[in-house]
Amino acid sequence: MITVSAKLKVFGHLLVEVIRPERCVACGSCVSVCPVDAINFVEGAPKLTGKCTACGACYLSCPRAEHDYGELEEGVLGRKRTSEEAVNGIVQGAYAVRSLDKDVMGHAQDGGAVTAVLVSLLKKNNGAIVAGLDKGKPWFPVPVLAKDKKALIECAGTKYTSAPMLLGLKQSEKEDLEVTMVGTPCQMHALRRRQRNKKKDALAIGLFCMETFDYDKLMVHLKEQGVDPAKVSKFQIKSGKFIANRLPEAPYEVKIKKLKELSRPCCRVCQDYTSELADLSIGNVGSPDGFSTVLVRSKKGKAALDAAEKSGLVEVKPLSDYQPGMSLVDKLADMKKRENLSKPLDQ
Ligand SMILES: Cc1cc2nc3c(=O)[nH]c(=O)nc-3n(C[C@H](O)[C@H](O)[C@H](O)COP(=O)(O)OP(=O)(O)OC[C@H]3O[C@@H](n4cnc5c(N)ncnc54)[C@H](O)[C@@H]3O)c2cc1C
Repeated sequence: MITVSAKLKVFGHLLVEVIRPERCVACGSCVSVCPVDAINFVEGAPKLTGKCTACGACYLSCPRAEHDYGELEEGVLGRKRTSEEAVNGIVQGAYAVRSLDKDVMGHAQDGGAVTAVLVSLLKKNNGAIVAGLDKGKPWFPVPVLAKDKKALIECAGTKYTSAPMLLGLKQSEKEDLEVTMVGTPCQMHALRRRQRNKKKDALAIGLFCMETFDYDKLMVHLKEQGVDPAKVSKFQIKSGKFIANRLPEAPYEVKIKKLKELSRPCCRVCQDYTSELADLSIGNVGSPDGFSTVLVRSKKGKAALDAAEKSGLVEVKPLSDYQPGMSLVDKLADMKKRENLSKPLDQ
């Protein structure tokens, strides 16, 4: 008989504390760590579909389960943030970066920094978990374990809905590969919880993120506006607008504020704009068009960026050379924290 200690929390606790109150980010962490494959996604949410052994691994790897965030940050980045770092977390350096590879730039969302760093790491690591697209559903993101440059380039570009990225780790662990993982702030949080639990040390490349859209709601919205998602070549968020590029037609543009009801409820309580627990955090705000803004948070992240620069794959400039630079990153990170702090989920 398994005795559950007073402190051990199991899937039932996740159900009550995280899944039912719509705090679950559907990252796939609980599914991927379950040693007996008893948890699966059913209609987009984790569900117990097998016999639970009450090991508690799912609870310990969940980014939204109760835990000490400061302690996690200290474990990952070596110290807790100071009060001056309250808004964005620990940042050792801020850069404007662009890929020098035409193929990467032809597919990338912004400056191609994410894909270029991943390409450079392919020499040392054995692959990366990135977001690809489902072949049967337009713009439906899925985790992909990419092992070569071609696969990395195919997966470049932003998908504004969420994929269960942590499921990719199950595959890489099966193949005993050391991987880099790309993801949104909540997925970086899940990765770090999972690493603390499983002691696997993948490099973490986090994306800036204000919110993700619910896939079904976004598709309905696009269809209502006469936009065929299958014909969209690239989605962008720029100057407060969500843009669907669909040549030869003119792009569909809508103010991002008008799309609030499309965002996932779990995003409305997230206070992390810049993937505070990643080794490298990458977005576009702050840098000029055609560049990515890269925040270095750890020695490992700095080594990865330096290696990409040394191999001639990227151009790296101090972000302070550009306007608005870090001030806009700070402003948006602060806005997200303030707006989502203690916000009830039904708003
Ligand atoms: C949902 C979402 C919201 C974002 N919001 C902002 C924002 O408010 N402000 C800002 O500055 N930047 C935001 N970004 C980041 C921005 O869109 C670019 O991803 C970033 O600037 C990196 O550009 P790049 O050219 O260097 O990346 P690329 O070289 O194009 O590589 C992008 C990488 O991200 C992966 N990826 C794409 N979509 C997802 C996803 N849904 N989940 C996990 N991985 C994914 C790709 O597979 C690829 O590996 C957001 C990204 C996402 C996914």
